[in-house]
Amino acid sequence: MMMPDLTIEDIFSREKFIFIAGPCAVESEEQVLDTARFLKSLGVNFMRGGAYKPRTSPRSFQGLKEEGLKILAKAKDETGINIITEVMDSDNLSTVTKYADILQIGSRNCQNFSLLRRVGELNKPVLIKRGFGNTVDEFVQASEYISNGGNNQIIMVERGIRTFESSTRFTLDISAVPVLKERVPYPIFVDPSHPAGLARYVEPLSLASVGAGADGLMIEVHPDPQNALSDSKQQLNFEQFRLLFDRVNALRDTISKF
Ligand code: PEP
Ligand code: MN
Repeated sequence: MMMPDLTIEDIFSREKFIFIAGPCAVESEEQVLDTARFLKSLGVNFMRGGAYKPRTSPRSFQGLKEEGLKILAKAKDETGINIITEVMDSDNLSTVTKYADILQIGSRNCQNFSLLRRVGELNKPVLIKRGFGNTVDEFVQASEYISNGGNNQIIMVERGIRTFESSTRFTLDISAVPVLKERVPYPIFVDPSHPAGLARYVEPLSLASVGAGADGLMIEVHPDPQNALSDSKQQLNFEQFRLLFDRVNALRDTISKF
């Protein structure tokens, strides 16, 4: 059965704060289905997973490509979970668009202006991640490439920037959350996984993001992080995610009382 396309309004009319979770990369049907079932059991309705992976080294796992998209579609069919997956270039845009409920533009493509223009012509939510070398101003201007085409269904994600600090993988620019909320009318999310680089830092960064006013979190979760084909050190296992989920919700409940 053809389902109507998801809109940002639908997303936020049902839930006030959105969790997007799932593996860095789609690796197998079992991995993705287990994750989708687990997330749905918690009430998480959005699953991420890269089928086309922008890897720093060409020797690293590059993703299962269309086979990966088919696995995501299967998880959606079985569980009803909504799918967020990355579109890396205009060549695979029409293929990825067929499978994704929300298109992800990765940090490395934040200033790929031709790709931004192309997704700006679509009637589909676009989640754009801040380039790790981009200022907030540049990030805002990237969003304008999308909205100028008529597509205002945008989610902006702070995911850490490069600084002189090397004790974490990237420096989460927590200030970007309140600043962006003043500058754009879009939901502002945080991805704490990529700046953390290590699983044990993901929860404190998530709690800080909630405190700063984020509208949602995008978190890497894997059934067996140690054997993940990418970003194995930062992905949470199911138990770690369950704990984070409960604590983030507890903090949100507390904040909402004041
Ligand atoms: C990702 O979310 O899968 C990813 C590659 O992150 P980023 O583009 O922020 O590096
Ligand atoms: Mn990753």
